[in-house]
Amino acid sequence: MAEKPSESIPVDKEDDWGYDLYPERRGETPRPKWWQMALFGAGQTNTERTTCERNVYYCFQNSPLVKLMYSALKASGCEIDLRRHIACELCDIKVSGGYDPRFNQIVVCQNVARSKGMVQGILVHEMIHMFDACRHELNFKDLNHLACTEIRAANLTHCSFMSAMTQGDASFFRIQKQHAECVKNKALGSVMAVRPDVTKEEALAVIDKVFLKCYNDLEPIGRRVRRNSPDMMRAYNEKGNYGYD
Ligand SMILES: [Zn+2]
Repeated sequence: MAEKPSESIPVDKEDDWGYDLYPERRGETPRPKWWQMALFGAGQTNTERTTCERNVYYCFQNSPLVKLMYSALKASGCEIDLRRHIACELCDIKVSGGYDPRFNQIVVCQNVARSKGMVQGILVHEMIHMFDACRHELNFKDLNHLACTEIRAANLTHCSFMSAMTQGDASFFRIQKQHAECVKNKALGSVMAVRPDVTKEEALAVIDKVFLKCYNDLEPIGRRVRRNSPDMMRAYNEKGNYGYD
């Protein structure tokens, strides 16, 4: 699927998918910034990592959506081993988490994602990427694939029907439209974070092209989860319908 003339793609993108956002991925331990030293002392990063790992563990024990994604991955032959597949790391503060397809690993940014709620959001989002990588031969360097998995991650988790409903006009059609817009924006942000070489227009064009197909693909959660709603529990309780026990 290379609609883009190859001249416009820099030759080797291997080391440049935005992973300078995750310095520890390159085997570097980033030095604490001067203000971190001043405010917390150098031991802070270890405390952060422990807190992050505890939050990850908590989500795997307690979050219905994380548990659902865990079952779905397991049923698809990609069972998660917490120690092997999830890493708490120091990241650039622009990002809160990521999925590294080279190592099939989820990165939770310990210095940004400090609450259980945030860690849960990151885990579910990145587990959707992991699920897509497991289910399909996903090529994250292919913009079509990247756009699709970002649409799915935004669609299944982030964009809330409820927030659209409180914005006045609650006609169902309008809410649907707002939800789709939210997913597009969220996916756009994610694609541009990973691919700084792609312009906003290019990213939008790809997102539009694959949108309907990927927006309507609700596996493995089976519904668009609304915030503060029983959807999470419902999705988890229905996981048997999809064969994810
Ligand atoms: Zn993503």
